[in-house]
Amino acid sequence: MRQISFHKPYITDDEISEVVSALKSGWLTMGPNTFRFEEKFSNYIGAKYAIAVNSCTSALHLVLKAIDLKQGDEVLVPAMTFTATSEVVCYLDAKPVLVDVEKDTMNIDPIKIENGRGKDWHVEKTKAIIPVHYGGLPCDMDAVKQVAERYHLKIIEDAAHALPAWYKGRKVGTIGDLTCFSFYATKTLTTGEGGMITTENDEWARQIKILRLHGISTDAWDRYSVEGSWYYEVVEPGFKYNTTDIQSALGLAQLRKLEWMWERRRAIAKKYTEAFESIDEISTLPPKQDRESAWHLYVIKLNLELLNVDRNLFIEELKEKGIGTSVHFIPLYRHPFYRNKYGYSAEEFENSEWLYERIISLPIYPGMSDGDVDYVINAVCSLVKRYQKCKIAVG
Ligand SMILES: *Cc1c(COP(=O)(O)O)cnc(C)c1O
Repeated sequence: MRQISFHKPYITDDEISEVVSALKSGWLTMGPNTFRFEEKFSNYIGAKYAIAVNSCTSALHLVLKAIDLKQGDEVLVPAMTFTATSEVVCYLDAKPVLVDVEKDTMNIDPIKIENGRGKDWHVEKTKAIIPVHYGGLPCDMDAVKQVAERYHLKIIEDAAHALPAWYKGRKVGTIGDLTCFSFYATKTLTTGEGGMITTENDEWARQIKILRLHGISTDAWDRYSVEGSWYYEVVEPGFKYNTTDIQSALGLAQLRKLEWMWERRRAIAKKYTEAFESIDEISTLPPKQDRESAWHLYVIKLNLELLNVDRNLFIEELKEKGIGTSVHFIPLYRHPFYRNKYGYSAEEFENSEWLYERIISLPIYPGMSDGDVDYVINAVCSLVKRYQKCKIAVG
């Protein structure tokens, strides 16, 4: 039987030889490869600054420090995301205010932000909003910007899924105040672990560069290069969030094939969408004319009203057929930490609850063959047939 794992990183001889060169160069930690990676990345995105760190979580933490988030402040976060988006707010003793998502795109719902006002969040304490471009499909950034302007919020984009993605022709990474990308093993560009921050703001960039390496005012490259000296100054208690030149070597090779990998995922998504379009029992994320998804995830929603199966059993059945899937995400309010600490409950998040019962992420990555994609399509279609509720014959 065919075995199709949920994800496989796309690593070729190109990545391997870049990493070998990095190892042979004698410079292992943050240095020339990292600065090269940052330069290529900022050029690719079209952002003034790109600052590499060891994860997207670290990136989010540092940007919240940079905008001076303080104890007791609040930050708007979608309920349907990974805990990383939200836990960083807790790092600074601020409160993540969860907002329900749109039923179709699964992105933060700008209308719900307004409706939830006064109940969970306090306008005077709220400093930022962290939209997550779910699965790679950009949020309605015009609506997010309107909310941000009305309440004087900084926009911090969690673009862990959104490399590359476009909103009204603009690349994600150039829209909000600060954008954080992830290079985790399953993401669209991987360095094993890693992250990147983009911004146009000189002061934030300067501060983030200091904070990522112990609060030291110059980085290791300056310190240890021939022109540098042994002297350095610690200006604040920073973090150990720098990346390594081994990882940046991997990143450089991955960046060269980023758009090719995106085109491959887009082709797989198109095949899935065409196959599922005519099936009432499942629906997919809707196309949006003004946006281009990175297609990090391909999510189907089971139309439970027409099926004699629940999501969990559907996943088990796919596993029986050798297909790896996942669920993105268990909504944050369902986790004991967020429930107990902030008193969130499922009733407040109607759309997230509705979605959580129905969603399955299917495999989508450049290394999938056409045969693999067809196999997944056939498996999904045959399960739908098996669990279809009896249709009443008409006529
Ligand atoms: C993967 C992910 C992160 C965290 O990325 P790391 O690089 O693993 O820290 C943050 N937000 C979302 C939505 C993610 O999927």
